[in-house]
Amino acid sequence: MTRVDWHTYFMNIARQAATRSTCDRKHVGAVIVRDRTILSTGYNGSIRGMPHCDDVGHLMENDHCVATVHAEANAIIQAAKNGVRIDEAEIYTTASPCWNCFKLIANAGLRTVYFGEFYRDRRSIEIASQLGIELVDLSQAGSLDSQ
Ligand SMILES: [Zn+2]
Ligand SMILES: [Zn+2]
Repeated sequence: MTRVDWHTYFMNIARQAATRSTCDRKHVGAVIVRDRTILSTGYNGSIRGMPHCDDVGHLMENDHCVATVHAEANAIIQAAKNGVRIDEAEIYTTASPCWNCFKLIANAGLRTVYFGEFYRDRRSIEIASQLGIELVDLSQAGSLDSQ
């Protein structure tokens, strides 16, 4: 067995977080990292205390499930809840952020977004370069290690 590189390591942990997702429309996981240390994790799921999509069905609006808080948002919330500083950190997410999560990422001061697969939102890609936020596609990285 070869030792996995850092990107693979953190993306594997994001994928692991995604397995806790409670909305089967899409399982997403996210990990916030600084200096190769995990600061926070998140996955998409219902509001705390509310029933899971997997149990009661989705709350659909314009063809999207709006019942859940997204993985990236939950990772940022978990940091806030625990008083963990995430300014200038990086985020690994299994799917590239939607527009709403991208806005949270930008204002939380995260500088780099590594994503495992591209997910529908092109706008964040355009705006990211204007803001100096790096969006890095890792869909090709670590594919040999994930076998
Ligand atoms: Zn759902
Ligand atoms: Zn999102």
